[in-house]
Amino acid sequence: MGNSPVQIKVNGTRLSIIQGDITRQATDAIVNAANSGLMGGGGVDGAIHRAGGPAILEECKQIVARQGRLPAGKAVITTGGNLPAKHVIHTVGPIWHGGDKGEAELLRSAYRESLGLAAENNLTSVSFPSISTGAYGYPVEQAAKVALSTAITFLREKVTSIKEVVFVLFDLRTYETYSAAIHEVTGE
Ligand code: ADP
Repeated sequence: MGNSPVQIKVNGTRLSIIQGDITRQATDAIVNAANSGLMGGGGVDGAIHRAGGPAILEECKQIVARQGRLPAGKAVITTGGNLPAKHVIHTVGPIWHGGDKGEAELLRSAYRESLGLAAENNLTSVSFPSISTGAYGYPVEQAAKVALSTAITFLREKVTSIKEVVFVLFDLRTYETYSAAIHEVTGE
C-alpha cells in the first residue's frame, strides 16, 4: 500500500510493522483478536473465520467445550484451515474501560501468552493484528506501546524458535501509530 515497512532486529529476531490484511500472511501463525466465546464475530475475528473456513470454528468449539470460555489475556492455538498461515493463535484482549481496570496488564498478557504459545509449538514466524483497538476501544497510541514493548521484552528475555514477528495493521492511522511508537519504545 505504498508504505515502506518498518523493521528492527531484536536478539536475532526480525520485528516488522506493515500495513495489510492479516488473513493473507503466510507466517506459521497469525494471531486472532478473538472474544471469550471463540465463536467468531466482527473485525479481524470475522475476517479470519471467513478466510480460513469452518475447520477453525470447529476446533474453537471443542476448546470451549473442554475448558470453557477463554479469559482476557489468555491464548489458544488451532489449525489455520484454508489460510496461508498454518495456525491461528486466538487471544482475547481487554475491553477498554478507561484504563484503570488492569487493561494494560491484560493486553500485555495477550501478547505474551500468544508469543509463548508460538514458541512452545516451535513456530518460527507469527503475525499480530492490533489487539483490542477496534470494537474493544483501547486507544491505539497506548495499545501500540504495550504491543511493541511486550514483544521486544519477550524476544530479549530468551532465544526461542521465533525468528520473525510481524505487526499487520489494517488501516493507515494504526500503521502510522505503530511505526511512530517503535521509535519511542526502542529509544532509537
Ligand atoms: P478488538 O475486538 O480486539 O478490538 P477488532 O477486530 O475490532 O478487535 O479490531 C482490532 C484491529 O484489527 C483493528 O485495528 C481493525 O482495524 C483490525 N483489523 C480488522 N480486519 C483486519 C484484517 N483483515 N487484518 C488485520 N487487521 C484487521
